[in-house]
Amino acid sequence: MRTFAFSRADSIDAAATPADATAFVAGGTTLLDLIKLDVLQPESVVDINALPLKRVERLDDGRLKIGALVTNTDLAHHPEVKAHYPVLSEALLAGASTQLRNMATTAGNVMQRTRCPYYRDPAAKCNRREPGSGCDAMDGINRMNAVLGGSDACIAVHPSDMCVGIAAIGATLTLQGPNGEREVDFADFHRLPGDTPHVEHDLQEGELITALTLDAPLPGAGSHYLKLRDRASYEFALASCAAEITLDGETIRDARIALGGVATKPWRCTEAEAALVGQPAEKASFERAAEIALKDAVPREHNAYKIPLARQAIVRALRNAAQDRTSQRETQETQA
Ligand SMILES: Cc1cc2nc3c(=O)[nH]c(=O)nc-3n(C[C@H](O)[C@H](O)[C@H](O)COP(=O)(O)OP(=O)(O)OC[C@H]3O[C@@H](n4cnc5c(N)ncnc54)[C@H](O)[C@@H]3O)c2cc1C
Repeated sequence: MRTFAFSRADSIDAAATPADATAFVAGGTTLLDLIKLDVLQPESVVDINALPLKRVERLDDGRLKIGALVTNTDLAHHPEVKAHYPVLSEALLAGASTQLRNMATTAGNVMQRTRCPYYRDPAAKCNRREPGSGCDAMDGINRMNAVLGGSDACIAVHPSDMCVGIAAIGATLTLQGPNGEREVDFADFHRLPGDTPHVEHDLQEGELITALTLDAPLPGAGSHYLKLRDRASYEFALASCAAEITLDGETIRDARIALGGVATKPWRCTEAEAALVGQPAEKASFERAAEIALKDAVPREHNAYKIPLARQAIVRALRNAAQDRTSQRETQETQA
């Protein structure tokens, strides 16, 4: 164990200060593991848990602002999220375990690191952990690695479930840094690895995530989060899909699709979404969308199975989202 300085931030301004090799700690469920594994070696750790970032508030324009320190448990069970963003609630509850969700925070989840075994093993070559060292996953045991968004330098999967729900909904991150506050579209926050996989996100030195603001809910949408994994709980996704759908009768008016477990960042499938608009809400349309979503997938020796698995996840999530919309309509008609 290496030594590091430890302090508690008592204001956002005090926390958002540039300092080399400083890490914020929120729930600690990613950071402390990676320090113990010697993957991360911060010289200084700043505990941000005393900061006033635990509120969830509905904004006048219909968006939902979530403080960076709202826990995954509190967010999953928040009445606004359950009522208007059920796909996010389902994604959160599909992640980790109850104990971990009680500690894990919204910003910590956004910032969680890949579970690629070569990243987590300092004896292995990993361009993400040590730029220029190579990538043992390319010809190694890459069963869990990405088929979308990879490069010759890195095929590590972004492991979050929560971020897949957020990618489907759309959101903005608020960042506070030494030069003030700025906002970043969630879709642009996580970087593709390219030839700089160690640059994982658009967070500058000293910047702190203070909030995540969800776009206004898609009116009249049915939704579903489907997670496929090796065992039914407490396991990362092999493939997952967050789907939202709105219907005019039996015709698709609008759709949102995002994938997890198969890509190097939370993966929104905009081309597949566009292909669904105006189509009948039936299996053949969902299968076409799934083909489009995976058309650029690049398999490696052990992960080709993820391509049909992700296609099936899309088809089932869309089917369940359409059924959800139909049952909402039936309930409304019964109540009228
Ligand atoms: C055994 C296990 C199983 C898991 N299974 C799943 C799963 O199935 N699905 C899933 O999605 N996740 C899973 N997780 C991951 C878990 O969701 C994350 O560890 C958690 O969300 C991280 O949140 P945290 O608050 O604990 O972050 P921390 O560990 O405190 O921090 C993580 C990173 O975020 C940075 N950070 C934290 N807050 C801020 C901020 N406000 N601004 C800027 N940077 C910040 C830290 O510096 C650090 O780099 C699992 C974790 C474990 C240990």
